[in-house]
Parts: sequence; structure tokens; C-alpha cells
Amino acid sequence: MVQHPSKQIMSQLIKRQWNLHSIQAAVVNSKGEIFSIGETTVADDHDPTAHAEVNAIRKACQQLGTSELPKEYWLYSTFEPCPLCSSAAVWAGVEGIVFANNSNFRGKEQNWSFISCREVLEAGAYIHEVKLVSDFMIDDIKGYFTRHDE
Ligand SMILES: [Zn+2]
Repeated sequence: MVQHPSKQIMSQLIKRQWNLHSIQAAVVNSKGEIFSIGETTVADDHDPTAHAEVNAIRKACQQLGTSELPKEYWLYSTFEPCPLCSSAAVWAGVEGIVFANNSNFRGKEQNWSFISCREVLEAGAYIHEVKLVSDFMIDDIKGYFTRHDE
């Protein structure tokens, strides 16, 4: 049985965000291995839906040739998934979500999480129940968006 949340997985993603300057998300398979990684490519792809989490889910589903992930696949993100990504997690059938930073630490950047991840998951639970671990290892990443602020 794989234990979530995994410090080993989240610390890899947090390190990637500090180095690559993009929110990082990963789909983790039932063996507890990172199966796919996504980062935000909205500007590069001219795609308003190309958030890190959606990209990770899209990549995993394409690799598996399915639109519904197998049991015990989890989604990790360095930031609280927005309504779009939280909904994608429900539709993809992820077992659980682990996120680190949240919108309280978004700094001067626009906050996309106008509905919290928890609220989306609760509203979507009749379709698929998704477990949620919030603010995991947040101290390692909460300074990211405010690093240049006064
Ligand atoms: Zn999103």
C-alpha cells in the first residue's frame, strides 16, 4: 500500500518549481511513482486550459490510452488546483489530490482559485470521490509568489 502524502514526491515538485519557475503537477501511479509531470504552458501553447494539473492528467491519460485513470492514481500539485483542474481530477477519477501552496500566498499574481479545491471536490463527489490533502509541505513553497514583493 502506497502512503500518501509523499514527502519524496512533493519535494521533487517543489524543487522543480523553484528551478523552472512554473507550477508543477504530477500524476502518481498506484506504485507511488511519478507517472507524468505537467507544468503550466498557457502562454506557450495559447491554451487557457493548459494548467500544470491538466497537462499532467492529459499526459497520463494519453500514455495509458484512457480518459479515466486506473485506481489509486493520485494528483500532486505545488499549488492548490483551481476549479478547472479540480474538476479535471474528478472526471479523470483520481484517488486523491495532494497540494502544497494555496491562494493565500499568491502574492500580487491573480488568484485563479475563485472556488476552492475542497468545494469543487465536495460538489463533484456524487460523480467521483477524491481524497484531499491540503497545504502539504507549504512552508517549502509559500514564499515563491511573494519572493520579489516588498
Ligand atoms: Zn488549474
